[in-house]
Amino acid sequence: MLLEILFNMKNYLLLISFTFWCLGATAQTPLWYYNNETLEYDEVVRAYTEMDNLYENAILREFGTTDSGKPLHVFFISSGKLDKEGKVSDWKKDKTVLLINNGIHPGEPCGIDASLVYARNLLEAGAPDNVLIAIIPVYNIGGVLNRGCCSRANQLGPEAYGFRGNARNLDLNRDFIKADALNTRSFYAIFHLLQPHIFIDTHTSNGADYQYTMTLISTQKDKLNPVLADYLQKDLEPALYSSMQDQGWPMIPYVNVFGDVPDKGYAAFLESPRYASGYTALFNTIGFITEAHMLKPYQDRVESTRAFLDIITDYMQGHSQELIDHKTRAQEYDRNLEHLSLQWELDSSKVQEMEFMGYRASYIPSKVTTGDRLKYNRNAPVDISINYYNSYRTTDSVEIPEYYLVSAAWYEVPQLLQYNGIQMRRLKRDTVITVESSYVSSFRFLSSPYEGHFPLLDLAIEKRTQERIFRAGDYIVPTDQENVRFVVSVLEPTAADSYLRWNFYDEIFQQKEHFSAYVFEDTAERLLEADPSLKEKFTEWLEMDPEREKSPYQQLSYIYQQTQAYEKEHLRYPVARILK
Ligand SMILES: [Zn+2]
Repeated sequence: MLLEILFNMKNYLLLISFTFWCLGATAQTPLWYYNNETLEYDEVVRAYTEMDNLYENAILREFGTTDSGKPLHVFFISSGKLDKEGKVSDWKKDKTVLLINNGIHPGEPCGIDASLVYARNLLEAGAPDNVLIAIIPVYNIGGVLNRGCCSRANQLGPEAYGFRGNARNLDLNRDFIKADALNTRSFYAIFHLLQPHIFIDTHTSNGADYQYTMTLISTQKDKLNPVLADYLQKDLEPALYSSMQDQGWPMIPYVNVFGDVPDKGYAAFLESPRYASGYTALFNTIGFITEAHMLKPYQDRVESTRAFLDIITDYMQGHSQELIDHKTRAQEYDRNLEHLSLQWELDSSKVQEMEFMGYRASYIPSKVTTGDRLKYNRNAPVDISINYYNSYRTTDSVEIPEYYLVSAAWYEVPQLLQYNGIQMRRLKRDTVITVESSYVSSFRFLSSPYEGHFPLLDLAIEKRTQERIFRAGDYIVPTDQENVRFVVSVLEPTAADSYLRWNFYDEIFQQKEHFSAYVFEDTAERLLEADPSLKEKFTEWLEMDPEREKSPYQQLSYIYQQTQAYEKEHLRYPVARILK
């Protein structure tokens, strides 16, 4: 393999690195990214293949496919020998598991390069005993293959890099619930096999300018299981921030500021389940998103990302049992959950003061537009104290039912539940069951596509207890299971990223049968005469809104909807609840 590389001048720097390495070079061996370059896809796979060949405690394995048609790879590192034919479940026994995902946004490739150096250094120096490390070298392969110079208009290097959209132009970091991409479905398999204690997704920032090279999004604490949230805040985060400082990479929470300066303070990023760490939080995996600063030299972005990976690995090695115990306790806690939050808003009454190393900024007249422009003065660093808002309060929550009943007809949903390791069973025969149904009482879809969908934005539901027939083959999903957070977060209709919101049940929004006014007029007259309470209800409804007087058809529709002729399926959410 090395000979092949020798004849490819493009890989000259890669060759140097591996040659040094084979000769026993130290961790300081110069690597390709020092030239402001990120490796191409084939070079990355080749580099990991080389390590797989060289080290008996490293394995590169394929896991499913991606929209690009190429397989998704995972590179495993353990302290002991890994059998090529062995099972991942055996490798992770009694260990904490770290899953690192790179290149979800290929224009932000520092993690791709950092992980290679990190892996090589670990293999050279000896991998930790207590940690199984799994690295996805490149997640968005289609995006990495779509290489160019310029799609990150605000970013300083590298010279060439991939594009954000994947092979079918999806942003994979919005796809963790709807799973349109094959990449996401392959990720499910990896993630559920590993059940990692910690997950890291590597990125490069957009937005404001400041002195820090590394910024961090932690799983937002108020969405996380309280056992883990407490541990994250009291133990894990302080250790990570202080170690990064010690290693010369002072770090700050992700600067969630766009179009303005951070001086006025900012709020923690709220990552709903469509995002990587929002998704992993539903399975009691603490997620971190490293966001290296776009305007810092590429070498520094890679180095600071690598430092973060090293630090977290050391932490996991030193606190392995603690992490295992906390995950177990979190899962026990979830089995007894009675309520779960579905939506949140910033609680601006809870604020913490934070030291911030920024740059002096000012607004000056633009030479391009008719407005003023924001300009940071990088020669004028300022250390200031700013407000940081890291608390979100629940705005919608739900009492968890004993079971959900999921129609088999909308087969995509049970399929996704299965991919996510959800336990469920099927009805053996057609059965009438008393359930709580949800009817959509008002809604609004987004008017243009977002990530291949027209998500439901405004949504209100009305609950009704009713007898419904469920068919043989429909699914019963118990909530007494480890992954209850995921179950509730996708099946509760009003949840931030529910399957209903992501268009899995759009068929219910269309009425299939209608009436002709000239025929129904006589029926309506008879009905109102025969049922004074219906007449009263109709009169009240009419008086509620003067606009209703103007539409005779709308009036007849209202009466039609009170009759048996009106289809039960219209606006009824196919997933039902059986209460505890
Ligand atoms: Zn990104």
